[in-house]
Amino acid sequence: MEGALTARDRVGIQDFVLLDAHTSETAFLDNLKKRFSEDLIYTYIGTLLVSVNPYKELDIYSKKQMDIYMGVNFFELPPHIFALADNAYHTMLAEANNHFILISGESGAGKTEASKKILQYYAVSCPSTTLLDNVRDRMLLSNPVLEAFGNSKTLKNDNSSRFGKYMDIQFDIQGDAVGGHILGYLLEKSRVVHQNHRERNFHIFYQLVKGGEEDLLHQLGLESNCQHYSYLVQGECANVASINDKNDWKTVRNALSVIEFDERDIQVSCCHTACANSFCDDIHSIAYCAILCPTTLYIIFLLGVNVQVLQEGLTSRKIEAKTDEVLSPFTVDHAIYARDALAKAIYGRTFTWLVNKINDSMENKDSSCKTVIGLLDIYGFEVFYVNSFEQFCINYCNEKLQQLFIQLTLKSEQEEYEAENIGWEPVQFFNNKIICDLVEEKHRGIISVLDEECLRPGEATDLTFLERLEEKLDSHPHFVTHKLADKKTRKTLERGDFRLLHYAGEVTYCVVGFLSKNNDLLYRNIKDVMRQSKNTIVRECFASKESDGRRRPETVASQFKSSLLGLTDILMSKEPWYVRCLKSNESQQPGQFDDVLVRHQVKYLGLMEHLRVRRAGFAYRCRYDVFLQRYKPLCPATWPYWRGVAAEGVEVLVQHLGYLPDEYKMGRTKIFIRHPRTLFATEDAFEV
Ligand code: ATP
Ligand code: MG
Repeated sequence: MEGALTARDRVGIQDFVLLDAHTSETAFLDNLKKRFSEDLIYTYIGTLLVSVNPYKELDIYSKKQMDIYMGVNFFELPPHIFALADNAYHTMLAEANNHFILISGESGAGKTEASKKILQYYAVSCPSTTLLDNVRDRMLLSNPVLEAFGNSKTLKNDNSSRFGKYMDIQFDIQGDAVGGHILGYLLEKSRVVHQNHRERNFHIFYQLVKGGEEDLLHQLGLESNCQHYSYLVQGECANVASINDKNDWKTVRNALSVIEFDERDIQVSCCHTACANSFCDDIHSIAYCAILCPTTLYIIFLLGVNVQVLQEGLTSRKIEAKTDEVLSPFTVDHAIYARDALAKAIYGRTFTWLVNKINDSMENKDSSCKTVIGLLDIYGFEVFYVNSFEQFCINYCNEKLQQLFIQLTLKSEQEEYEAENIGWEPVQFFNNKIICDLVEEKHRGIISVLDEECLRPGEATDLTFLERLEEKLDSHPHFVTHKLADKKTRKTLERGDFRLLHYAGEVTYCVVGFLSKNNDLLYRNIKDVMRQSKNTIVRECFASKESDGRRRPETVASQFKSSLLGLTDILMSKEPWYVRCLKSNESQQPGQFDDVLVRHQVKYLGLMEHLRVRRAGFAYRCRYDVFLQRYKPLCPATWPYWRGVAAEGVEVLVQHLGYLPDEYKMGRTKIFIRHPRTLFATEDAFEV
């Protein structure tokens, strides 16, 4: 029918593998855009799911939709996050092995939303018993709690994850979800005491202050107005149109009680939150010495510690004289440092305690867990006008995940061809290992250099750190500074900056604060006071492995590096599934598709290369039984039943369809089809 749009023209192709063999980036983008304009936000590249953030509620996540996807073959229904979740689940059951779903994309691309949808799918769709309903509720409700304490409004995303989260969902042999376990990664604690313009502190602060019950606020000595707390209004956006803090508080409070927080636990979490945010404008100077205001003293009282001793710790240092100890008062700046360090420590440690509590409540008590599906939702790659230590850690983490993706996709593809006895030709990737090494290599890597500088207190500064980097990395192709740059690039760099050429683009980091953030020191006497608190939870939070005080605590970057290595090991032992989230526009607007922005993400996420790899030998592969089931109506000999071996049925079917010998190969368990057009023709045969 000339002039009429076919379904394919209108809604695009639902699997990129089926686009023409020499798909250009432009054709790739056109397809995404076409689908996006029809609210079709999901598209496959084989079994990888590409998702484009619609920034509007779509009616595609209901229970009815879940039922449609339950147990249905991956390619038989339109692409969906539920299809991927379901496929991972059924493969796990069939093969009795562990899987993980890696959700990646830059800040605001939709990772956290995707991970929530997957969790909901498992919680709602998997078989259930009443006994297990509790565990599921807790798994689901751990989300609002962790988001309240670990997410915040940034310039990129009104609900940006400021910590990394890996969650194992544990299943028993029948496929019931029986438990969960969360690993948290590096919370951005500096946000507790400092936020950039148009950014907020963690959500929980606003929820508590705006929504907290009168009694509770009274007990905590809190005002119900954010303006009283400079830690909450630095960014000048305590109110955000897309966020209802008051209602969110109700959700969080309810969630806390479902995940077995008793009244005391709730009080303590709130109290710690209150403490962290109330230490503000509280340090005055009298004769150049710092003193604390009564509100702070009240908070110290709430922490169950000795008020006098902590007050001393926050305002002075003990110096051992010959026979005596004398107190040397802090300057105001010094006291501010001590106060901020304590606020960050209280918050950071409370967050860890919270994750542990949630884990206890989701624990699978009868140890019948057979297999797991891990869900990884980590802070996305981010570039701000000024980037600091936090962005450095976040972007390093994204490099590691990209590296894992590269290793696993190449590896699995090779293994599949080998296992199926099919020859193949490798595709060239940009391998970002060079950038991972630049950050984490022993002796020469940025983290090593930073740690070395942190070992020279009193001598080293952020600028000497930069100089060391320049000495060690002067000819590194992915590292540049004002001094090392050519004339043209130099104009774009300040003297205190270094720039990394990340896989996802260039990021310029300002070195100010790198040393102190990496050291993250809390004065020992303050730590000691906290450990002697009357409050068991405060004691628990501050109990520490390095309690003898002599061993130097690991730096923040080194800890993060080892936890990421641990995470890589966890993931490498499981079967991967990928969701690649794309941000449709920078202004968080519904329905806007910014071509340049999306093209950039398609490039750096390596989606074109992934597509090429999928096609290097054979663009499409499918298990014999599945292929036969799908296409058997197209051949009289296989319709309605094929009574023999599936592989033979497929052979008969493709002969009937006129596949040429060069167009396909029969592997051990799957048929491999070289060109998408072959499959297209087969698909089109349905319409005839
Ligand atoms: P970050 O790295 O900053 O944590 P993220 O990738 O986790 O970012 P999300 O918080 O998942 O990003 O998404 C940002 C916002 O985009 C959400 O708050 C929501 O408004 C919108 N959004 C994301 N995915 C969807 C979706 N599938 N449907 C509707 N809106 C969505
Ligand atoms: Mg997130």
